[in-house]
Amino acid sequence: MTYALVWFKRDLRWQDHAALAQASLSGPVRCIYVIEPELWLQADCALQHFEFVRESLQSLDAHLRTLGGQIEIHQGELPEVLTRIWAEAPFTGLYAHEETGNGFTYARDLKVAAWCKQHAVDWHEHPQFGVVRRLKSRNRWQSAWEQHMAQPIQALGPLHFWRPPSRKPLDMLAPSHLTHNPPLRQHGGREKALDTLHRFLHARSIGYRGGMSSPLSAPDACSRLSAYLAHGCISMREVVQQTRAHMDQLPPQAARHRAGLAAFMSRLHWHCHFIQKLESEPAIEWRNMHRGYDGLREQDFNLAHFEALKAARTGWPMVDACVTMLRETGWLNFRMRAMLVSVAAYPLWLHWRPVGEWLATQFLDYEPGIHWSQLQMQSGTTGINTTRVYNPVKQAQDHDPHGRFVRHWLPHMRQVPDTWLFEPWLMPPHLQIQLSLRDHLAAPLVDLATATRESKQRLHDRRQQPEVRAGKKAVIEQHASRKPLHPRKKTTAPQVTVQQQLGFDF
Ligand SMILES: Cc1cc2nc3c(=O)[nH]c(=O)nc-3n(C[C@H](O)[C@H](O)[C@H](O)COP(=O)(O)OP(=O)(O)OC[C@H]3O[C@@H](n4cnc5c(N)ncnc54)[C@H](O)[C@@H]3O)c2cc1C
Repeated sequence: MTYALVWFKRDLRWQDHAALAQASLSGPVRCIYVIEPELWLQADCALQHFEFVRESLQSLDAHLRTLGGQIEIHQGELPEVLTRIWAEAPFTGLYAHEETGNGFTYARDLKVAAWCKQHAVDWHEHPQFGVVRRLKSRNRWQSAWEQHMAQPIQALGPLHFWRPPSRKPLDMLAPSHLTHNPPLRQHGGREKALDTLHRFLHARSIGYRGGMSSPLSAPDACSRLSAYLAHGCISMREVVQQTRAHMDQLPPQAARHRAGLAAFMSRLHWHCHFIQKLESEPAIEWRNMHRGYDGLREQDFNLAHFEALKAARTGWPMVDACVTMLRETGWLNFRMRAMLVSVAAYPLWLHWRPVGEWLATQFLDYEPGIHWSQLQMQSGTTGINTTRVYNPVKQAQDHDPHGRFVRHWLPHMRQVPDTWLFEPWLMPPHLQIQLSLRDHLAAPLVDLATATRESKQRLHDRRQQPEVRAGKKAVIEQHASRKPLHPRKKTTAPQVTVQQQLGFDF
């Protein structure tokens, strides 16, 4: 008996799974997940990602078993695994979602495509987000996004599986070299994704707008869906449609709640907008989006600064507390992520690539398209964004005025009196000794004001060079957003925003 092979990757769900739904129309299906050793050797992988995948696969497998099937776990490189499966029993077609991943998955997909051609197998690849493969022009992107999100949720019809499942439970051993699994991270699985969305839509989103920037309120105020979207436990279309349905039934007086959900909706656009950048130009994972910034930081990499940042020993309490929270939970809100990268890129003058590799292992929700675009944007190498420099002392004053956040994550800060909360290194030495803080308080790695001023000047000088100014237009053309006047109505001629005309929209 022949069958359709469904290859699960970062789409670990059964509902609104275009590949599974389409495969099931052609006859029996066989579902696989492949543990690719080379993939897990990449610098952006961590144990937390593997464990999250395992949990999500367990949830998927349990559901498929209720339908009489299972997900098979295979180990090995692609396309060799396909060759093995083919030798066991040839399949009629390969079904999967398009993946905008890292350089490894890009190269692997080319090999899989060549294998399919050689074996005369049709590879049916389905878009999983509002990201358009082979996009001709950014002008049509917004309407394509709307079209994708408006399509009906792909419900799963009756499934026929190629073979009944064996009795043994899903078994996956993490590659032994993998490290870093934060004790307080979110756990994988579709049920958890649905529950997180439900709680956010019905209650937590009321505080979204006011609460998203402070690291104290953000863990509750933000949706916390990122890891579930990144691993595909829930589809972006499900999130968009449920959010819009919820907004439509809110009473008129629920203005704050509606505003929160409207702000959330714009982030859902951003998700795909940023991934589109990597989809359209995979090289931005490695090199500057605007090549005019090449050589800006590469030669100056200060390893001691980088190590101190990773060890939460920069001396700025807000930075060190954020690094600690991230290490323990695998998550940080947008503003604090931006601040970390800003500190790395400006006063510490670190190139974005090593910083991004480290952060990729720290973020449970690591999504290459968002991640590398954001790294470059916050480091000033896109050439089209305004320079964003976050002062870590001011961020602490604005978002943690009473020191609750830093004192939670940095126990030694509990000893520091309020007077020195934001600049504890200024405490008189005798007081530091008296409070046993001498070994805990690191002086800032650099003088913040001087180092920031100098780095901004270097960036500014580069930006002013005629060839750099000239190169900006091409980046805008390929990557900048064009927002329609009425986001929910289909438009054939999207308008260019004021920011984009000025050249700093993202
Ligand atoms: C340097 C840097 C690196 C980042 N790396 C990642 C990453 O690897 N993966 C990731 O999902 N997000 C990344 N972000 C974006 C953002 O910080 C996270 O999406 C957000 O903090 C996740 O929490 P949430 O799901 O509660 O977000 P919410 O605020 O509830 O937003 C809902 C969803 O919208 C999307 N989203 C939110 N903010 C952004 C944004 N600024 N750009 C693009 N999409 C966004 C995410 O999918 C998110 O789950 C990064 C931001 C920065 C500054």
